[in-house]
Amino acid sequence: VSLEDLRINADRLNQSLAEMATIGATSAGGVTRLALSDEDRQARQLLIRWLVEIDLQTHVDDVGNMWAVRPGTSTADPVMLGSHLDTVIQGGRYDGALGVLGALEVLRTLHEHNIITDKPIGLVNWTNEEGVRFEPAMTCSGVVTGAFTAEYVHERHDRSGARFGDELTAIGFAGNADERPKPGAYLELHIEQGPVLESIDLPVGMVEGIVGITWCDVTIVGQPDHAGPSPMHLRHDPLMAAAEIILEVERIALHRDDTAVATVGRINVEANVINTIPGIVRFSVDFRHRDPAVLDDQVELLRRAAGGITERRGATCIIDRFWTSAPTPFDPEVLSEVSSAIAALGLPEHRLWSGAGHDARYLADICPSAMIFVRSRAGLSHCEAEFSAQEDIAAGANTLLQTALRLATN
Ligand SMILES: [Zn+2]
Repeated sequence: VSLEDLRINADRLNQSLAEMATIGATSAGGVTRLALSDEDRQARQLLIRWLVEIDLQTHVDDVGNMWAVRPGTSTADPVMLGSHLDTVIQGGRYDGALGVLGALEVLRTLHEHNIITDKPIGLVNWTNEEGVRFEPAMTCSGVVTGAFTAEYVHERHDRSGARFGDELTAIGFAGNADERPKPGAYLELHIEQGPVLESIDLPVGMVEGIVGITWCDVTIVGQPDHAGPSPMHLRHDPLMAAAEIILEVERIALHRDDTAVATVGRINVEANVINTIPGIVRFSVDFRHRDPAVLDDQVELLRRAAGGITERRGATCIIDRFWTSAPTPFDPEVLSEVSSAIAALGLPEHRLWSGAGHDARYLADICPSAMIFVRSRAGLSHCEAEFSAQEDIAAGANTLLQTALRLATN
């Protein structure tokens, strides 16, 4: 079989996804497999067994990231394929597992056809991508790129007080930093976690980058008072001001373009009492866009709107833009290989940006990287109803295979 015609085994991949989903299975068909839990340990051991079946040895680094590299004819840095096996609480069967088992299926396909690539191709399972048990998210891909130190990660504690470093040792996956290969390129297959591919009826999408995110805390101070004796025109009600500002947040995104999104996800009202005009309202704003200048502009529009609204209502407003994650565009050359792979498979090409963070966000800092998305039913993820059809998974894994083969050719 010529390399262009090589395809993964969709049944085998689906069976492996189903078997992995039994570890931490929930009664409603989802998975709870928190980082460094006993379920995580079982998932890791299953992965090691599968890798042994194709003659690959697993290496573990100092934060528990697992690596296996299939040698090529050259000693070039490997083309790494991967994602994560941890999940959120009552999560789905595909978020993360698809990228790890998709990579495994690529390696199995190469193994059964005795294909020796020029560059090595490897698999990686990142520890604690979700950040549900140990905050923040993506800690262990972040260690690889220098965003965090291993010591910082080891000192994370979960809500019960358990320490990351101790839990890593307890499940038997504390390795050495020098076990970590330097990736020559990185590809991550992942479910879309959004409704775009479904809305245009396509199985796969090529991810051009991960959007930038900026977070603001908005505090509005008014005059608390009794709900009865105060006439409407004499009030300085911060919650009414907040209501107007929140609608303005929606308009700021709607008026930009159809990729801009804005969310107010948290609001606190003081005193939060039925017969008292509130005195202070605090809420969060989350703006996301691929262009950092647009993020700046949106925060500026928020400041202007909030200033006008609170002044008119005799309240004051403070906006604290306390966190920003810059947009991460993926590598044009890797993307062009993804594009040729999609064309070789006879699939239509659709480019999109990821609205959520992934390990590829950090990997892009140290090597040419990209992602491939697979259609998610109803766009649902981080829930038990998460689902991707077998044909779509096969299309995604074949795109991963064909892209990896192109990247591994000298
Ligand atoms: Zn994920």
